[in-house]
Amino acid sequence: MARPRHALPLLPLLVCGACTAPSPAAPAKRPNVVVFLVDDMGWQETSVPFHTAPTALNARYRTPAMERLAATGMKFTQAYASAVCSPSRLSLMTGQNVARHRVTNWTLRRGASPDNPHPTLTPPAWNVNGFSSDPSIERTMQGAPLPALLHAAGYRTIHVGKAHFGATDTPAADPRHLGFDVNIAGHAAGGPGSYHGEHDYSAAWRKGDRIWNVPDLAAYHGTTTNLTEALTREAIREVEQAHAAHTPFFLHLSHYAIHAPWEPDARFVQRYVDAGLPPQQAALASMVESMDHSLGAVLDTLDRLGIADDTLVLFVSDNGSPQQCPPNLPLRGHKLSPYEGGVRVPMLARWPGVTAAGSTCTTPVVIEDCHATLLAAAGVPATASAPFPIDGVSFEPQLRGAERSHARAFVWHYPHHYSGQAPWSALRVGDWKLVYHHADQRRELFDLAHDLGEQHDLAAQQPERVAALAAQLGDLLRTRGAQMPTRKDDGAPVPWPDRIPVPADLPR
Ligand code: CA
Repeated sequence: MARPRHALPLLPLLVCGACTAPSPAAPAKRPNVVVFLVDDMGWQETSVPFHTAPTALNARYRTPAMERLAATGMKFTQAYASAVCSPSRLSLMTGQNVARHRVTNWTLRRGASPDNPHPTLTPPAWNVNGFSSDPSIERTMQGAPLPALLHAAGYRTIHVGKAHFGATDTPAADPRHLGFDVNIAGHAAGGPGSYHGEHDYSAAWRKGDRIWNVPDLAAYHGTTTNLTEALTREAIREVEQAHAAHTPFFLHLSHYAIHAPWEPDARFVQRYVDAGLPPQQAALASMVESMDHSLGAVLDTLDRLGIADDTLVLFVSDNGSPQQCPPNLPLRGHKLSPYEGGVRVPMLARWPGVTAAGSTCTTPVVIEDCHATLLAAAGVPATASAPFPIDGVSFEPQLRGAERSHARAFVWHYPHHYSGQAPWSALRVGDWKLVYHHADQRRELFDLAHDLGEQHDLAAQQPERVAALAAQLGDLLRTRGAQMPTRKDDGAPVPWPDRIPVPADLPR
């Protein structure tokens, strides 16, 4: 058993929203909250179909607990996150959009950006150190973290697993700085050295950097306990303790899985080897099933303790699947990419007495919405986040079966060059999506209703729509204080998507 580290002093669609749930009466008391966050899980890496029909990857993977959650709760078929880890995690924690909080890439070492050199562009001075409640720490964002607000409302706030909120040698490398009462196994790094207890969850055995060593789990070192299983046991023990103390709890079970390194979980891998999958894909599939086994254990615990009816469970991923993984067809692109394969993620919610069992919500939502939603569910007024601005919109009404207006715009912003991905911004309004490539100021237009795979760029055919969407994207980026890369030749920032100079030889 690990020794949990306990509290520090707290810091002061445009698409038709067809949610197929009726509206049952609200429960009498505020629910416990479980956020089950999976890392790097693509939209199709599950046996639950999120597309209009089951796909080949749905047939490959085995996730019975997700099926159980979907059958007893609500499936969101158009849920979004940022295209990479830290931006999504801080949006979930603070309700702020990535363009506003400026943690636009993944964080690790204080002051060190992982960006690769780009031939023509220099990345902006983004918030490379992540979150900090102390604004004197350079290049950090400030906000009202969900765990701090829930703690103040009387919840016991429990973090287990991957954190990735703040760089090394800054306070938010420890999740307790965001208001968690308990932190088990969370620190600055966004991946584990190993999933294997035999390797002490460290990369040392393959001469990897010790910065990836998973903290706090020494009791499992040298055993055959997979990291996902160790985190599950720790989380269940914390839930049992909170329940015994008659304290409402917020469990943030944030698995390192299914992020690299893709190491087989021996309990589950043989099925996929026998199916003929190559080793890396068999390992990935075993990690998906391992993650799902954890979800099943958590749901079983809620049942055993008699609190399933008093607990809101939210399942979500933080970005699409990496390029080393099978494409999430029909979606285009992978993690880091502006296309749907980078940003569309699986999401499920169960809130007995509120969400209708087996319901589906096709209204687009985004990960920063979770902040407002969970506060609403806990009965915490939205004003509790003041003075910090919030971009997320509560989907609690959707959980109750309501529809949402078509007028909403979604913004993504990635002003970085990393792992082959060049800088971009994107906007979705209704079924239309605009992608703005910073390096050449190229704008692409896609109709997601008829071209979910984003294969047909309609920008040349519909210049007026491009101009209107570019103006909307430009306004939102400016309003939120987005940072653009600068050009190496003259030091000027990349123009906003609606301020691209028109060459003199073209009609204006
Ligand atoms: Ca991730």
